[in-house]
Amino acid sequence: IRLPLVVANWKLNGDRQLLTEMVQSIKELDAEKVETVLCPPYVYLNENTDGVKKGAQSVAIQESGAFTGEISGRMLRDVGCQYVIVGHSERRAMFGESNDTVAKKVLATLAAGLIPILCVGETDEQREAGETIAVITEQVKSVLDVLPNYSDSIVIAYEPVWAIGTGKTATSEQAEEVHLAIRKILAGYSQELADLTRILYGGSVKPDNSEELFSKENIDGGLIGGASLDVEAFTNICKNA
Ligand code: 13P
Repeated sequence: IRLPLVVANWKLNGDRQLLTEMVQSIKELDAEKVETVLCPPYVYLNENTDGVKKGAQSVAIQESGAFTGEISGRMLRDVGCQYVIVGHSERRAMFGESNDTVAKKVLATLAAGLIPILCVGETDEQREAGETIAVITEQVKSVLDVLPNYSDSIVIAYEPVWAIGTGKTATSEQAEEVHLAIRKILAGYSQELADLTRILYGGSVKPDNSEELFSKENIDGGLIGGASLDVEAFTNICKNA
């Protein structure tokens, strides 16, 4: 019932040329087998991607006004975006986004008719201290508690902070354990939400570990950083979903 989803998070990387090449390759994939979304930096979101879906890496909390440097959900929708990555660990750690800020951004995303990709994940320290599930639970609940209803589409991405850009991937068992815990949290709000919500894994996903990760029951695709900057690697990851 859940169509696999693979999302490219380019972070502060890439250019027009790469976007053009990526679109050419992604267009050839079977859209009935995998949904693919490209999230380049804001300035490239206005490019024509020939039907390949686009998402932003963040969004303003506010709808409009005197907020220099911000981009609103309505603007993103205006240029053809369908998704927004919200609460990435880099935004939480380097740009001061708290669970409360993240919840507001999820609401702003939904209000604009876009689908939030809510990122959650524990640090190395938190995992060592046995706090993984508690941290994830708080991150997920702080958003679900403020949702006006559970019929809107959302996506959750589990990205252990220690696995991002480090080459250290969670084992498929470690990831599946957290994904299952997230699905149980969702079920506490609505069984339909739990059944329909795609839970992606992110953190050093590469072509050669993606097949194993995606084979797990509760891993519905991936949020890809480094490997999403390589056309062949990213396309192969999509094929494994
Ligand atoms: P890497 O795939 O480079 O580890 O990044 C993961 C990530 O943060 C995607 O959002």
